[in-house]
Amino acid sequence: MRKFDIIIIGGGHNGLVAASVLSKKGNKVLVIEKNEQLGGLSNYVDSLSYISEEVLKELNIKIEKDINENYVSALSDDLNHTVLKINGNKNIEILQTNASESDQLNFIKLINKYDLFARTLRSFMFKKPPRVKSGSRSDIWQLVSMGLKVRLLGKKNMRELLRVIGLNIADDLEDNITDNILKGLLSNEAVIGTNLGARSPGSILNLLYNQATNNSIFRINKYNTHSFLNSIREICKKNNVEIETNKKVEKINISNQNVNSVLLDTGEEIQTSSIISNVDPKTTYLKLVGAANLDTDFIRRTKNYRTKGTVAKIHIDFENEIKINNLDTKYLSGKFVYAPDIKYIEHAFNDNKYNKLSSNPCLEFYINKNKLSANIYFIPYLINSAHDKKKILSNVKLILEKFVTENQILSSTIETPNDIEDKYNISGGHWSHGDMEIDQLLMMRPFYGSSQYSTPINGLYLCSAGTHPGGGVTGINGINAAKQLLKDNRNE
Ligand SMILES: Cc1cc2nc3c(=O)[nH]c(=O)nc-3n(C[C@H](O)[C@H](O)[C@H](O)COP(=O)(O)OP(=O)(O)OC[C@H]3O[C@@H](n4cnc5c(N)ncnc54)[C@H](O)[C@@H]3O)c2cc1C
Repeated sequence: MRKFDIIIIGGGHNGLVAASVLSKKGNKVLVIEKNEQLGGLSNYVDSLSYISEEVLKELNIKIEKDINENYVSALSDDLNHTVLKINGNKNIEILQTNASESDQLNFIKLINKYDLFARTLRSFMFKKPPRVKSGSRSDIWQLVSMGLKVRLLGKKNMRELLRVIGLNIADDLEDNITDNILKGLLSNEAVIGTNLGARSPGSILNLLYNQATNNSIFRINKYNTHSFLNSIREICKKNNVEIETNKKVEKINISNQNVNSVLLDTGEEIQTSSIISNVDPKTTYLKLVGAANLDTDFIRRTKNYRTKGTVAKIHIDFENEIKINNLDTKYLSGKFVYAPDIKYIEHAFNDNKYNKLSSNPCLEFYINKNKLSANIYFIPYLINSAHDKKKILSNVKLILEKFVTENQILSSTIETPNDIEDKYNISGGHWSHGDMEIDQLLMMRPFYGSSQYSTPINGLYLCSAGTHPGGGVTGINGINAAKQLLKDNRNE
C-alpha cells in the first residue's frame, strides 16, 4: 500500500496552498483531485481583487497584476449608466452618474465609513480565529486585541460600527442616498453569493467582511487568478508534491478516532496519518468521514450548516465585439453590474428564498472582445429538481438586450449551483462552501466544535472556504490549516 505523510483531498486553490506550505517543511504530500483541471471553484473567478501580503510572503511568490484601469459600471435601464474608477480601497472616483452632488458625496462618505470598519476587521481575517473558552494565552490575547481594535476607533465610530454591524444595507443606504443606481450597486456587493437580500440583517456585516478580505469594497479584477494558481503549482512541483487528478476520494478510513487511510474511486487505498480536506465541511463529515465516526450532536450541527448555493455562471459568445449602449469603450475593461435598485434585488432574493427562478436576476459580468462571462445571482440550488436553463438564458438575454444591441448570441453555456455541486462535489454548489452569516463566521465557522481548522477526528483538518475566513480566492484557509497541522504535529 502506498503511504504519504499528508494527503490533501481536493486540488482547489486552498488545497494547493496547504500542500505548498506543508511540502516546504519536507513532508511527503499527495494531492488528490476529482477533476482533470486543478483550481476548483477558482476556475469561475472573473475578479481577484487582492492577495494578502501574508499569503504572498508565506508562499514567497509574486503575482501578475492586471494592468487595466479598474472601472465599475452600474447599468441603468434609461442608459444613464454610473461609472466608478477604483484607484484604491479609499480612492473611488465617480466618473459619470445621474446622482445629485449630495448623493455622490454621501456615497463616498459611506464607502469611507465602511472602509474604516473593514480595516478594523482586517487584522482578524488572516489569523486563526480564537477559541472563546480555551483559556490559552494566544486565544485570550486575540480576543483582547479584537476588543482593543474596536475601542481604538473612538467612541463615535465604535458606536456606529456596533449600530450597523447587525443592520441591513438597505436601511443605511436609504438614510443617506436617494439615487437608485448607487443604492443598487452597493447593495449588490453586500449580498453577492449569499442567501441575504438588501433588507436582510447582517448584509452590512457581509459587506465589511468581504471588504476586509478583498481590501476593496468592490470586487475588481486586479490580480490574475491563473498566475496565482500557476505559482502555487510551481511550488508544489519544486517540493515534489504528488498531484493525482481524475481521482475521487470516496472514504476516509478511521480507527480509534485517528485517520489511517483514504479509499479512492479506483479502489486503491492509500495510507496516511494526516489529512487536510479541501472539500466543504458538510461533504467531508457526512460523506467522507461518515456518521458512524461522529457523535449525534456533531452530526446535527453538520446537517444544520447552511450551504444552499445561489450563483450560476454563464458564458456567452457574441457574433461581434461587444459594446454597451451609451457607454464609452474605454470602460469595457471593467466590471458591469445590473442591480438597478434595492427593490429589484429584493424581488430576486425573494424568488431565491422560495426556490423559484427569478425572471429578474442580478448580473455581474466582464467582457473580452466578443465573449461575456457573468455571474447570475439568486439562482437557487434545488433539491431533487433542475432549473430550466433555456428560461435562465432567456431572462439573461432580456436584460442584456437593453445594453448590447445589433449583436447576435452565437452560443452560451450555463452552470447552475446544482451543476457546480455535481462537478466539484461541493454541497449546494455554494460559492463559499457555506453561508457567510454571523452564526457561521469567525470562531463559529463552519460551526461550533469544528472551528480553527481541526476536527473531532485526530489527524483530520479542514482547509476549504467553509473555514475561516470563508470564500473567495485568498489562500488564507489553506495556510492556516497547514500551520495548525504542523503545530499539532510538533506538540505531539
Ligand atoms: C460561479 C462562481 C463565481 C465566483 N466568482 C468569484 C470571484 O469573482 N472572486 C472570488 O474571489 N471568488 C469567487 N468565487 C468563490 C471562489 O471561487 C471560491 O470561494 C474558492 O475558489 C473556494 O476555494 P477552495 O479551494 O476553498 O475550494 P474549491 O475550489 O471548491 O476546491 C475544492 C476541490 O476539491 C475537489 N473535490 C471535491 N470532492 C473531492 C473528492 N471526494 N476527492 C477529490 N477531490 C475532491 C473539487 O473538485 C475541487 O477542486 C466564485 C464562486 C463561484 C461558484
